[in-house]
Amino acid sequence: MRVAVLREDSCQPKKCMDECREFCPPVRNGQECIVMDAKTGKPHISEALCIGCGICVNKCPHDALIITQLPSELATEMIHRYSMNGFRLFRLPSPSKESVIGILGPNGMGKSTAINILSGQLIPNLGDYDAEEVWLEDAIESLPKGELRDFLNLVLKGEVTISIKPQYVDHLPRVANGPVIDLLTKVDETGTLAENAEKLGISHLLQRDIKQLSGGELQRVAICATLLKEADVYFFDEPSSYLDIHERMRIVKIIQGLAQSKRVIVIEHDLAVLDVLADLVHIVYGEKGAYGIFTPARPTRTAINVYLDGFLPEQNMRIRDKPIKFQSHTERRTEKGATILEWGDITKKLGDFSLSTGKGTVHQGEVVGVVGANGTGKSTLFKMIAGEMEYDEGWITAEAKISYKPQHISVEHDLPVQEWLDAEVGLAWRSGEFQVSVVRAMGVDTLLAKRANKLSGGELQAVSIVICLAREADLYLLDEPSAHLDANARMECAKAIRRTMEANEKSAFVIDHDVYFIDILADSLLVFEGEGGKHGRAEGPFHLKEGMNRFLKAVGVTFRRDHDSSRPRINKEGSRKDREQRASGDFYSFER
Ligand code: ADP
Ligand code: SF4
Repeated sequence: MRVAVLREDSCQPKKCMDECREFCPPVRNGQECIVMDAKTGKPHISEALCIGCGICVNKCPHDALIITQLPSELATEMIHRYSMNGFRLFRLPSPSKESVIGILGPNGMGKSTAINILSGQLIPNLGDYDAEEVWLEDAIESLPKGELRDFLNLVLKGEVTISIKPQYVDHLPRVANGPVIDLLTKVDETGTLAENAEKLGISHLLQRDIKQLSGGELQRVAICATLLKEADVYFFDEPSSYLDIHERMRIVKIIQGLAQSKRVIVIEHDLAVLDVLADLVHIVYGEKGAYGIFTPARPTRTAINVYLDGFLPEQNMRIRDKPIKFQSHTERRTEKGATILEWGDITKKLGDFSLSTGKGTVHQGEVVGVVGANGTGKSTLFKMIAGEMEYDEGWITAEAKISYKPQHISVEHDLPVQEWLDAEVGLAWRSGEFQVSVVRAMGVDTLLAKRANKLSGGELQAVSIVICLAREADLYLLDEPSAHLDANARMECAKAIRRTMEANEKSAFVIDHDVYFIDILADSLLVFEGEGGKHGRAEGPFHLKEGMNRFLKAVGVTFRRDHDSSRPRINKEGSRKDREQRASGDFYSFER
């Protein structure tokens, strides 16, 4: 089955010479394989006439075309196609009773399309994009008997209600204002506001204005609002971003509790969280913006292992060139470069909050993971290191020039990414090595023509990381770079940060709560302890294992290693391994 897709965002007919049509061999032979639209000037490509030579793909100056071949068996499994050369979706995830169903895969592969179909907001056309009317009955008829078919029948009868936690909680303050309690009261259909607020640890925020909340607080408010609705199916799109590990574990319990009586679907890119949260996982793969294919659900452990391995055996499909690997304790880099920065016994009081530190040293080429609960003074310490804030006591050897990627990114302009990069970092992003190890690794090479205000949250994150790494600085500080990146992009980002620091002999601090990301990224760990908003203490950087042990002990979570993939896995609380590891103080084990 031939698939020809036009990336509408990239296609710029005013800035090209219709190269796709000019060079297409069937067109040259007089066939109407590519016809330019009279109104928009954009090409319509006939999949029946296309011979798959790929010449148009190479000739298009804006990388707007995708021509590919898919197994013909899939033809009968097409669920939806937006237009002639639009995105298409194959198969659907299936919400099951009393289970948490996870979805694992990149953004832009049809998760939202699938959710819109499952919630009855979008009627699937089974590929017949120009049908006058599409009927859900027909779509359901074509599905094999089973849970998905039964479920869609309920949707058809209007018997299914859905509650959705959207992906981008950062947008909440733009659409809502006033005290949190007002927002939650408005959506409370279950009469459980006080109880859920308590469970989520947001009771003390109820009188606060939504515009004053931090990312982690917004996330918990959004989750609370989702739980308060009376529904049959609950969707949580990226519930963990901006939450610290302690909060992530709390969300896991709450969502699992909900699944005892409801159907729950979760999209989650923090694999340690997905691993403990989901019962079954659908992997979604394909090509961004062109097509997405949902695989049948697998048990969570197998699904994550297969995903990391990059090869789907049942589908005989490679979804990544190389497996994502985790290093053992002994494989890790131990040699250290020259010292860049040292500090010791700093104290700082800010209103009711106080921060203190031990003695810390950072070396050339070192990537320091920064972990700890929200509100324990991470940004405060970095402001002092950057010389933006005075400290009360203690010492820092030098003021370091810091390149900073903030947690929340907002853009006020609509420059195309290419011009934005030029304006921020001049020629620095264009050098050959940086292009390969950062720009292309983060997928930003395909976004150059896209306008900043049109970027998705994940794309905006990727561009911001590129800008941060391309700047000239002594130290790089990235605050939660993993947010909105899919699992694959997180691993690419970890490698991009490492390569940049090693190549330039600089060092980076990366604040993040995704344990897989930190494991792949960090040489050492700076651990923040204390109580959010009241007091914090920074110890380290320690070697990764020592730091993790210290940090996880405070959180009360133990990790073992998967015996096949060596990936860290959270132990079930109170399980034999959990008890043994706690007793021996081995909270972050490298033992399989
Ligand atoms: P995800 O939720 O996995 O990020 P989506 O389902 O939102 O993916 O989108 C998948 C693809 O479908 C994207 O390339 C998007 O541009 C395209 N798409 C989404 N909605 C429409 C629409 N109404 N018309 C045409 N294309 C769409
Ligand atoms: Fe024409 Fe298809 Fe070749 Fe593109 S891939 S140039 S549409 S024949």
